[in-house]
Amino acid sequence: MKRLLITGGAGFLGSHLCEHFLAKGCEVIAVDNLLTGRLENIEGLIGNPRFRFIKLDVTNFLHVPGKLDAVLHFASPASPVDYQRWPIPTLKVGALGTHKALGLAKDKKAVFVLASTSEVYGDPEVNPQPESYWGNVNPIGPRGVYDEAKRFAEALTMAYHRSHGIPVRIVRIFNTYGPRMRMNDGRAVPNFITQALAGRPITVYGDGSQTRSLTFVSDLVDGIDRLLRSRLNEPVNIGNPREMSLLEIAQTIRRLTGSKSRLVFKPLPTDDPKVRRPDISLARAKLHWEPKVALEDGLRRTIAYFRKPL
Ligand code: UDP
Repeated sequence: MKRLLITGGAGFLGSHLCEHFLAKGCEVIAVDNLLTGRLENIEGLIGNPRFRFIKLDVTNFLHVPGKLDAVLHFASPASPVDYQRWPIPTLKVGALGTHKALGLAKDKKAVFVLASTSEVYGDPEVNPQPESYWGNVNPIGPRGVYDEAKRFAEALTMAYHRSHGIPVRIVRIFNTYGPRMRMNDGRAVPNFITQALAGRPITVYGDGSQTRSLTFVSDLVDGIDRLLRSRLNEPVNIGNPREMSLLEIAQTIRRLTGSKSRLVFKPLPTDDPKVRRPDISLARAKLHWEPKVALEDGLRRTIAYFRKPL
């Protein structure tokens, strides 16, 4: 892999991917419309002669001159608060944006990597979730704009693979956290950390018994790199299988920040999945991947990032 294009390159995951592939000696073109991405995420990369940023909406025509070895499609609002605030852009980037990115990959004879999600499993009736599980998604609920956009994106990706023979990789990303998350993106980890650091009440939705499995961003990037270099043209779960209740996550963050914030309980959002845990047998067997960063270590690094004055 020498020259890569990353959509959503100024986002949380996209910016870490840019940094990773630049460090490996690749040339990286980052594309972002800056709806939820931020230039400050990539400011450390500006000036690197192998890096280029283009402000562009990937739902419109997408083309760059020259050869590309891979197109990584990571553009999309990704937190429930963001995608419910921007439902139509979310549907468009998952559908039209995936189409444009696939078209570019086809034209360049490049490998296409789709950022998919554990949300394709919806509110799962099977736990942990293997890739073979088809999911339990409410298509017209508030989360449907993201879930169905990503399900359509997977379908389109497989259709391009089958019809045009282009090599594709589909990564089903489970809840990922780390530096460069937006503190106001509404997700549990940034909410809990900012609330704990400010001494404000920590907002646990529902009774906090719902579960998630948190992956530190460097583990995810390692999994994506291995997937890109593999020959797996089928979805692969990348996520840390350590499953915890939201109450435990809130208490852990309160302990690690040394905060005295109290926990307050707020209504559970509609269609909030009750459980989520990846079955990573496929990634273990085919990519020899498994997460390395312990939750407490990853959270400490994330808390340090949130403590820094902006
Ligand atoms: N959550 C919470 N308090 C918050 C934000 C989120 O209890 O301030 C819960 C949310 O209801 C869900 C879990 O944390 O059960 C994870 O939510 P997040 O938005 O991080 O991502 P999701 O996994 O739902 O996409």
